Amino acid sequence: MNISVFIVNHVAENCYILWNGKGSEAIIIDPGMCNKRERDAVDRFIKDNDLRLKCVLLTHQHFDHILSASYLADKYGVEVQASKADNYLGERLPQQAADFGLPYECEPITVTHGLKDRDKIELNGEYIEVLEVPGHTPGGLAFYLAESGCVIAGDSLFRRSIGRTDLPGGDADQLISSLRKQLLSLPDDTVVYCGHGEATEIGEEKRLNPYILYY
Ligand SMILES: [Zn+2]
Repeated sequence: MNISVFIVNHVAENCYILWNGKGSEAIIIDPGMCNKRERDAVDRFIKDNDLRLKCVLLTHQHFDHILSASYLADKYGVEVQASKADNYLGERLPQQAADFGLPYECEPITVTHGLKDRDKIELNGEYIEVLEVPGHTPGGLAFYLAESGCVIAGDSLFRRSIGRTDLPGGDADQLISSLRKQLLSLPDDTVVYCGHGEATEIGEEKRLNPYILYY
């Protein structure tokens, strides 16, 4: 699987595009593009590579990960899929942005295609497995690509850090137990693509992440 990243909006969110070469199907994860320039860059990438967008996936429904979910759903006629446990967040998207003092023009979103633990989504013959990782938000998900040896972790796990749990719906004990059960149990050489910042590997985080070592 090819995994391309677009770093978008005021909090440098990683929007990922999964694809398999020119003319293949594609999935976009966490479309946080906040303006026309950022949306145009993603549209151009899709057009230049002749990609057919299959769906949009959300690791969770914090504003910085979902700002262009409706835009993509409308433009490409695709579904937005995520955990419905976070719908209370998507439904107050404008307020979430305002709470951070960010003047984005956006509408609330309501996810109707709910994803559950161990659901599988097919893309170009490879399976993406849904892992529930609540704690950063109640509906946090990670997307595991066993064949490619990587996981898109959203804001649950970062390089040497973990997601914040002080926002409404966050729960530190729950996040640590999600990480231990769902992510740290993956093979050590699994590459972790995070919601912000650089990628890491599961084995490295087991050895070096202070939140995992000392919590
Ligand atoms: Zn978040």
